[in-house]
Amino acid sequence: MDDELKELADLMFPNVTKTVLDYEKMYPERNLKEGAIVTRFAPSPTGFVHMGSLLSAFEGYKAARDTDGIFYLRIEDTDQKRSIENGISGILNDLKNVDIVPDEGMIGENKSIGEYGPYIQSERMEIYHAFAKELVLRGLAYPCFCSSEELDEIREIQELNKERIGYYGSFAKCRNMDIKEAIERIKKGEEFVVRLKSPGDFNKKIVLHDLVRGDIEFPENDLDIVLIKSTDKLPTYHFAHLVDDHLMRTTHIMRGEDWVASFPIHDQLFSIFGFEKPKYAHLGLVMKIDETGTRRKLSKRKDPEASVEYYHKEGIPKEAVKLYLMTIANSNFEEWLDNNPGDDFTDFKFDFKKVSASGTLFDVSKLLNISKNYFSRQKASTIYDNLLNWTLEFDKEFHDLLVKYKDYSIKIFNIERETEKPRKDYTSYSSIRSFVFYMYDELFQNPKYEDTKITNKEDIATILNTYYDEYLDLSNKDVWFAKVKEMCDKLGYASNIKDYKKNPDNYKGNVSDVTGVIRVSLTSKTNTPDLYEIMKLLGKERIKERFTKYLNSNK
Ligand code: GLU
Repeated sequence: MDDELKELADLMFPNVTKTVLDYEKMYPERNLKEGAIVTRFAPSPTGFVHMGSLLSAFEGYKAARDTDGIFYLRIEDTDQKRSIENGISGILNDLKNVDIVPDEGMIGENKSIGEYGPYIQSERMEIYHAFAKELVLRGLAYPCFCSSEELDEIREIQELNKERIGYYGSFAKCRNMDIKEAIERIKKGEEFVVRLKSPGDFNKKIVLHDLVRGDIEFPENDLDIVLIKSTDKLPTYHFAHLVDDHLMRTTHIMRGEDWVASFPIHDQLFSIFGFEKPKYAHLGLVMKIDETGTRRKLSKRKDPEASVEYYHKEGIPKEAVKLYLMTIANSNFEEWLDNNPGDDFTDFKFDFKKVSASGTLFDVSKLLNISKNYFSRQKASTIYDNLLNWTLEFDKEFHDLLVKYKDYSIKIFNIERETEKPRKDYTSYSSIRSFVFYMYDELFQNPKYEDTKITNKEDIATILNTYYDEYLDLSNKDVWFAKVKEMCDKLGYASNIKDYKKNPDNYKGNVSDVTGVIRVSLTSKTNTPDLYEIMKLLGKERIKERFTKYLNSNK
């Protein structure tokens, strides 16, 4: 019997030269401090990272950092349909956009670091085959010759009899095939897959522990799942997970909740080999509420915000994206952040128990709010430097102006900034232009009269001319405002809003209507940061120019 099994195993895996034990020695346990988390990000080489995957990578990275562990990148390319050329660089770029740099694993298209590789599954064929071979030798795996027609037939019968679907028990036609017959069929060149001979009993219950979901009860696995596929001889996800995560000495499997259903299969595979089981955290999906109010999975096809590249293009600072990811990763982070304001959350510890099991709602407006707070804490010169980088890639026209007017630009960004209560307006690098364009003559366009409360052209002309000729004083903010008020009194506008509210009919308008006219003529906007600061930066000459242009173009 044993000889027959050996003949079968050798026939199935003619190229295997090493044993499981050999690999155990080649990849010894890691020498890390107690409690160190070794985890991985294991995408297919699709060239980009979806927001949902980014969140799990971020969580893994943070968990590893918090515990002085290892976060590594493994490329799962056993499904060749999901591979694209240069697919690894795109992933690394997306990760880098939020400062995730793997400690180990793939670090380039054909480059890896670490002692536990290869880190690309298609290069690990020999290892998978050695593990599968051992199972065959132990009578725990077998070749299955069923054609897809035969598998369809099994399914049809199961559907008809309302039986559980799958390849198991008496439905598993090849499970009890005579070994001699199997040998003959392989010798004849028949195609086969390698299946697990599951020792499980579906009527027995097991309880598995999930770090996010707690204890979950399942029936034991009794499916004779495919371990090695027939065409390319590559492993299935299930088998590769066992082999890779064991040999790479992964302590924590952090992956999407779509894998919960396979948990009993994976637990069984680890038991069969007698390997120490990793801890599992099945993370909730990233959801959104769409235009129709429906809660659904964030979709890479429908939602631009599902791609990491989107944030880069929009110019949302990575610090803000990271703060947002942490906010949706752990429900207690927001409170922590309130008590520890800033962008550095090294001291916050990732907690599996604070991960939402039911899925995380992804909300761009919340991210933009975080981003707004982030910008409000930045120095004008930092904003300038980063904006210069961003515009270089995405807004050449603005970039050139920033280069040409460096000091002036920093002064613009500094209006109401480095103060105790800084202004909160910028949400992204791409948004800044819309807040400051009017400060650059090259971008400023003459506004329309209708934008102001005071619409009478003669009144507007009187205000602007009188102001320029007699009251324009930029020596300091108090003097500036006192002068504006003085003019109001002279021209019949209330210089005091309270007085105006008491007797509006006594006045032509009030001081804010007057500054409104000045503001719109100079900036084309009804709402801007401090008008005095703006005027000081524009300077008298440009103020005159803009007043004149405004009055002329609206004649
Ligand atoms: N390649 C798998 C996926 O993209 C990885 C899942 C895992 O982390 O185990 O779903």
